[in-house]
Amino acid sequence: MTAWAVGAVVACGGDGDSRTTGAWEPSSSDADATASVSATDSADADATASASASAESDGGKTASATDPTDPDSGTDTSPTSGPSTTGQEYDCATLGYTGVCEGDVLVWCEDDQIMMVDCAAQGEVCAYQNDDIGYNCLPAGGGGFGYPVGDTTTWPAGGWTVTQVLGHYLNFGSFVGGHLAQDIANGEAATANAPVYSVADGTVLYAGANASTYVNVVLVEHAHPDGGTICSFYGHLGSVTVGEGEAVTRGQQIATVLDWQAQFGDANSHLHYVLLSAELCAASDAANGALICGYDDTAGPNGIEDLDSEPFSYTSIGDVCGDHNYPEAFTSPSQFIDLHHF
Ligand SMILES: [Zn+2]
Repeated sequence: MTAWAVGAVVACGGDGDSRTTGAWEPSSSDADATASVSATDSADADATASASASAESDGGKTASATDPTDPDSGTDTSPTSGPSTTGQEYDCATLGYTGVCEGDVLVWCEDDQIMMVDCAAQGEVCAYQNDDIGYNCLPAGGGGFGYPVGDTTTWPAGGWTVTQVLGHYLNFGSFVGGHLAQDIANGEAATANAPVYSVADGTVLYAGANASTYVNVVLVEHAHPDGGTICSFYGHLGSVTVGEGEAVTRGQQIATVLDWQAQFGDANSHLHYVLLSAELCAASDAANGALICGYDDTAGPNGIEDLDSEPFSYTSIGDVCGDHNYPEAFTSPSQFIDLHHF
C-alpha cells in the first residue's frame, strides 16, 4: 500500500476517548421547509444551527520519542513538504495537525515536519478522532459506533456538522416541539445524494418507504456494548441499498441522503439520525419503520440548544406517534459514541 518506507512504527493514540463538544451557535432557519411537510407524524424540519467542537487538549497524535539519529526510531518524518503515497505533495501549511489518511497511513504536520505512520502495521486504522486531534491511528472496528456520514468514524467529519441536536425545541411553521434526533448536513450540494453508512455492525430491521417527509428510512439493530440491543434510525433517505434482514457492518453504505431540493423544492437536504431504545425499535420494526416522530410536543424552549446541553437520552413528550410511551427511547449519538466508539 505504501510506496515509501515507514520507519519503525510507533504506538499511536493516547487516550483516544475524550472528545468533547462545545459552542453551538444558532445560524439560520429556513421556514420554507415547512411548506412541503405534510401533517404526518414523522415530519422534520431543516437545520437551524450549526455545530462546532471546542478545543481540547487530550494527548494528541503520537509521535513517540524519536531519536533523530536513529533511522529505525519512531515515526517516519520528512521535511516540511514531500510526496505522499499517491504522489501528492503535502505541505505543513495545508496539512496541519489535523492531517489526512491515505488508506491506513496517517500523515500530519507537527513542529513543521511531515509525520507519517502506518496504522495498519500496529493493528489499527487511520480515522478521524475529533476536531481537536484530527485524524489519528485508532483501534479497528469490532463493535464500536461511528457516524453515518463523512468518513464514518467518530464524528461527522469533512464538513459535516450536527445542525440540530436531540431535544432542541423548534417553533416555526408546523414544527413545534423537541427534535427527536440529530440532523446532520454538509451544505446542500455535498449532502444531497451523499452515502449513508451503518454506524455499527448490525442487522437491518427495515429499509424502505415511509409515509412522511422521511421518504425512506432505515432501521438497524445493533448489539449494545453493555448488553441487549440498541437501534440506529436514519431518515430523509433518497434510496436504500440494503434489505430487511441483511447483516451490515460498520461503515457499510445503507442508503443515500434524500435530495431535498429535487423532492420538495427547498435546499434542505440533511440526514435525520438517532439511536433508539430496544423497546421503541421493536415497535417501529413491527410497524415497518413507522412510529418514529421527528418532533414531540414540548411546550416551549427547554434549554436544549447545543451539543453541550443535549441529554444522553430523551423521553418524547406527548408526540402523536406515541413515542412518549417509551421512556428514554431516544439516545444522543454524540454522547453514546463518547462511551462506545471503537
Ligand atoms: Zn431531524
